[in-house]
Amino acid sequence: MDERDAIYPVALAGLLHDIGKFAQRAGWMKGAHPEVGGEFVRQLVPQAWREGLYPVMGHHDKPLQGYATKLVALADRLSAGERIPQEEEQPLFLRSIFCSLTADGQQAPRVLYWPLQCLKMTREAIFPRDLVEFPSAEDGYRRLWGEFTGEARRLMEAHQANGSLPVYLESLLLLLQRYTWCVPSASYRSMPDVSLYDHSRITAGLAVCLLGTGEAALDGMLNALEDWFRARQKDSSAPAPAILEGTKVALLVGGDISGVQDFIYTITARGATSALRGRSFYLQLLTEAVARYVLRRLGLPITNLIYQGGGHFYLLARPNDLDRLEEVRREVSRVLLAHHRGDLYLALEAVPLTAADFYDGRISGQWEELGQGLRQAKQRRFAELGAELVDLFQPEGHGGNEEECQVCGREHPETEEEKEDTRTRKCPPCRSYEGLGKDLRRARYLWMAQVEPAASGKLLKVTPGGWEEVLAAFGMRAGAVENVSKVPDTGGPRWILALKDEAMDGLQPDARTVVGRRLLVNVTPILTDEEHRELRGKVPDLPTPGSVKPFSVMAYQSRGIRRLGVLRMDVDNLGKLFSEGLGNQATLSRVAALSFAISLFFEGWVEVLAERPGKKEGRDRLYSIYSGGDDLFFVGSWDAVAELARAIRADFSRFAAEHPGVHASAGIALVGGKYPLYQAAEDAGRAEKQAKALRWRDESGGRRTKDAISFLGQAVPWQRFGTEACEEENRQTVHGLAHLLDHLTASGGDGKGAPKALLQILIRLQEQYQEVAEGRARLGEDRNRAREPQVYYGPWMWRGYYFLKRMARRLERERGEASWVVNDLAEGLYGENFQAIEWIGLAARWAELLGRE
Ligand SMILES: [Zn+2]
Repeated sequence: MDERDAIYPVALAGLLHDIGKFAQRAGWMKGAHPEVGGEFVRQLVPQAWREGLYPVMGHHDKPLQGYATKLVALADRLSAGERIPQEEEQPLFLRSIFCSLTADGQQAPRVLYWPLQCLKMTREAIFPRDLVEFPSAEDGYRRLWGEFTGEARRLMEAHQANGSLPVYLESLLLLLQRYTWCVPSASYRSMPDVSLYDHSRITAGLAVCLLGTGEAALDGMLNALEDWFRARQKDSSAPAPAILEGTKVALLVGGDISGVQDFIYTITARGATSALRGRSFYLQLLTEAVARYVLRRLGLPITNLIYQGGGHFYLLARPNDLDRLEEVRREVSRVLLAHHRGDLYLALEAVPLTAADFYDGRISGQWEELGQGLRQAKQRRFAELGAELVDLFQPEGHGGNEEECQVCGREHPETEEEKEDTRTRKCPPCRSYEGLGKDLRRARYLWMAQVEPAASGKLLKVTPGGWEEVLAAFGMRAGAVENVSKVPDTGGPRWILALKDEAMDGLQPDARTVVGRRLLVNVTPILTDEEHRELRGKVPDLPTPGSVKPFSVMAYQSRGIRRLGVLRMDVDNLGKLFSEGLGNQATLSRVAALSFAISLFFEGWVEVLAERPGKKEGRDRLYSIYSGGDDLFFVGSWDAVAELARAIRADFSRFAAEHPGVHASAGIALVGGKYPLYQAAEDAGRAEKQAKALRWRDESGGRRTKDAISFLGQAVPWQRFGTEACEEENRQTVHGLAHLLDHLTASGGDGKGAPKALLQILIRLQEQYQEVAEGRARLGEDRNRAREPQVYYGPWMWRGYYFLKRMARRLERERGEASWVVNDLAEGLYGENFQAIEWIGLAARWAELLGRE
C-alpha cells in the first residue's frame, strides 16, 4: 500500500486500538481486550475498512505481527508515556485530571472522579464527584456502551455502501468524545486520569506521524523501550538508549493568531451590537479553517489535531513536514495580509519530538519551547514573505475613491451608507461580521463544508473581503443556522454540529456528513416586541424587535444605576499549570486531557451559567462576546455581570475538584451604554490585571496572589468578595454585606430600614483609611517589623465605630431589626481588628449603586 493510502486506515486503527477495554468493562463479550476489540470491528465498522484493523487489535501480542501493528503499538506507548503504577487496584472511573496537578505548591484536597455519563452540559454529567456517590461502574458501562454501539451502528450503516473514510473517521472521533471522555484508558494498577478518548486520538495522531518510519527502526525503538523500562526498574535514572534520544518521531506544531483582541474590540459604537459577536465568532471559524487547512496541506487526518480554539491550535505532524510547513505558513500569510492588511497574523511554529521526549515529563519542556517559538514569530510578523512585501506597498489602481468605514475606520472602495436605522457608512467586511452576528442569534447548528482552497503561491492583490471570502481561501464554507434543513448541499464533505444538547436529536450521519456536538458559548440577548414597546421613547436608536439587544438597552435594564458591566476573566497561571503542573507525569495524553477539561468548562459550562433559567434577572441581560480556551469576555447589565462572575468562579472550583491552586481572576468595568467598546475592553483588562497583581493572605496566614476580582475599582480576593458558593447575605463577604446593606437601606423609607446616610458613612470610612494607607505606603511605613503589610489605626476608625453605634441607638425605638444590624456592623468592625475597613466601603458602594433610582 502507498504510504498516502495508508494514512486513514492507520489513523482508524490508532483510534480503535483500545476499544476492547470499553467493551470488556461493559461485559459485552468475554475475552482479552484485543479479541473483544476485533469483535467490535467485525460487527460495527463498515466492511471496506475492517481487514486492516484486525491485526492491530493484537498490539500487545509478543512478538508483534505486521507493520501497522507495530506503528500503533509504538504510538500507544508514546501516547501513554510510562503508565504510573499504583499499589492498589484502581476504580473504573476517570479520575479528574485536576487531581494530578500540583499548583501553587498544593494539590486537590481529595480525589474526585468523573461520572460515567455521555457528554452533556448538565451538572450531573460533567462535575467530578466522590466515588461513593456513584452507582456501580458495571451498570454505568453497560448503559454507556449500549448508547455508543447504537450510534456506532447508525454510523456504520451510513458508510456501508459508499462510504468516505475521512468522514467516517471524524464522525467516530466525535462519537468517542461523546461516550469515552469519561472512560479511563488505563486502570487496574495504573493511574486512571486519561480518558480513552484522549489516549486514542493521540495514539492515532502519533501512528500517522510514524508512518514512513522503516520497520527495522520501529523494531529498534520498541525493543529499546522495553530494555529501558527494564533498566529503570533497577535504577530509575537509567538514561534512555541512543535510538530513543536520537530518532525524531513527530513534530509538535503550534499555530497562534495574533491581533485578535484589537480586531474584535477596535470598532466604534456606530457598529451594531451583533458586529462584536460576529467578529469574535469569525475568529473562531478562522482558527478552525486555518488549522484544517494546515492538516489538509500536510495530508494529515483530523486525529492529528490536538486542540483548536480561541485563536490557537496544536497538531502533530511528521518529522519531515518542516519544509512543507514553511510553504503553508507563507500561503496563510498571503491570505491574511490581503484580507486583513496586517491586522491578523498567524504564527506557525514547530518543535521536533524524539521518542524520549514522551517520558519523564519532558513533553512540557517541548511545549514550553514551542510557546517561545510562537512568541518570537509574532515579533517578526510577515517576515516569511520577504521580498513579496515590497510588492505590496506599490501604489495600487484603487485609492483616491476609497471611503472610510465608520465602524472600523478602514478605507474600502465598496464602503456604503446603510439605508435603514442610523445611516452609518460601512465597509463590506464590517457588514459581513454584523450578518454573522445576526445569524448567531437563534443558531442551533454550525455547518461547515470543504471546498477547493483559493490560497495561492502568489500575493493576492484583492480588496479585503468579508469573512466568507477569507474562509473560502482556506477551503471552507460555514454558517450558523436554526434548522438542519437550512444547511446548503455543497456536494463535497460537510459537517453539521449541534450547538445545544437538544439539537443532537435532529442529526443523522451520512456518507459525506460528519455530525456531532460542538461546544460554543452563544448567549445572545434579543430585543423582544414587548421590550421594544416598553422602551420606545426611553432609549434612543432602538433597533427593530428581534435584533440583538443594543448595549444601551442592557445598561437601561440594570438594577440601580444604568450601566453596562464588562467582564473579563481567565485562569490564573495557565501556562505554568501546563508546563509545571503535571511535573514528571506529564505525557502528551495528559496535557491533552487537561486542555480538554479546561475547554469543557469555558466553551461549554459557562453558557449554562449565563443562561440559567433560575436566575430570572440574569436572563437576556447578558451577551457573550467570547468564551473559549481559558478565558472569557461578557457584556451585560452590570448587576447581572457581577453575579455571573461569582457563579463562574464558584463552579470553576467545583469543576477543578476544589483544587486550591486552580483559580481564575476577573475584572469588571462599569461603563455607559454609548461608551466606546475598545475603551471598555481596555478598562476591564486593566481591572483584570489589578486583580492578578493582588497580594493577600488566606485564613491560615499563607501568602497568596491572584485568585481575585476587581470590581468598582478595587481588587479583593474571591474569598472575601464572596463567590456564589458562599451563603447569601454572609456579612463577612463584600457581596453578602452589599446585599444586606441594599436591603436595609432600600426599606429605609418605609420606616423599617436604615437611612441611606449609612452607606455614605461606610464609604467615607474606607476612603479615609485608604488615603492614609497610601501616604504611608509611599513613605515605606506600611509594613511591620516582619515586613508584613498591616492595617493602621487612626481616629477615623473610632469615629466610624461611634457613628454606627449612635445610629444603632437612634434606630432602636422604631426600627428594631435595622438597629440590630447596624450595631452588629459596628461590633464586627471593631471585633476583627478593624480589618473590614479595607472592604466595607466597597460593599457600601455596591449597595449604593444598586439603590440608585
Ligand atoms: Zn469596516
